[in-house]
Amino acid sequence: MNQQIKSKPSTLTKYDSIKFLSKNDIKLNDPKAWEWRGQFQEEEQSFADFRSLNHKITDSLKVIYIYPIGDFDSLENQLIIATKDYLSRFYQRKIVINSSFSTKAIPEKGKRNHYGKDQILAPYILYEMLEQDNPPVSLLKLAVTNEDIYPKESWNYVFGLANYKKSVGVSSFHRFSDNNLKESNFSQTLSRLIKTSTHEINHMLKIQHCVKAVCLMNGANNLGELDGRPNRLCSECLAKLTWSLDIKLKNRKMLLNRYFLENKLLSDLKHTSQDLEILKEVN
Ligand SMILES: [Zn+2]
Ligand SMILES: [Zn+2]
Repeated sequence: MNQQIKSKPSTLTKYDSIKFLSKNDIKLNDPKAWEWRGQFQEEEQSFADFRSLNHKITDSLKVIYIYPIGDFDSLENQLIIATKDYLSRFYQRKIVINSSFSTKAIPEKGKRNHYGKDQILAPYILYEMLEQDNPPVSLLKLAVTNEDIYPKESWNYVFGLANYKKSVGVSSFHRFSDNNLKESNFSQTLSRLIKTSTHEINHMLKIQHCVKAVCLMNGANNLGELDGRPNRLCSECLAKLTWSLDIKLKNRKMLLNRYFLENKLLSDLKHTSQDLEILKEVN
């Protein structure tokens, strides 16, 4: 009897699996004039474009540092800890929370009162506070604040800002809870904060705004647009993150899925559950 030689089954690469996930990508609608894409004409950054930047993160850059900026009550501290937990699952890196900076020491050039609202200049946080601090094995530094922030004089406010050359960024949850965090708006504030924080960190990893699909990396002009974009990277942006940090695809999705379940973020959970179904089928 002839013995049949079975060919070794081909193993799927992470990028093959990501191609399957593209089935869950949602097409973008044409933008309204007041939406981000209606105001800014941004070019697509393809996966090939991203790889050509050669921004692969080495294993020696182990730690993402969170800098809480402001005076926090216990619920706000809980929000920072929940954000830390999310970031460790999202990036599969160690996250360290630094001791908080008080805003009282910020000089006049780093703040303003805008139509009765106190605000902190986001670049002041990036370059005068974060950039000056050099903790060990730092991959990047993210400030998280309950203060309202603005990027420059001509802008009213911003949810977050990042500089990829300096690996510093900031996200503010001031407007996510109307500056009044309580049990009843905790989940919504958390969903918005983890979206903004990962969006800004992804910019620090040189991932640009996404114009390919409905995605965490879409630009957002206001809360409505922020809420309209999912807590999910489209397949192309996920490929960029995977290439940059060499993450474990299925394990990461399972950890994120559990996070959304534990924190009752049900619309976020829907997306990871759908992606996990595909990953379980193809792996
Ligand atoms: Zn952005
Ligand atoms: Zn995308």
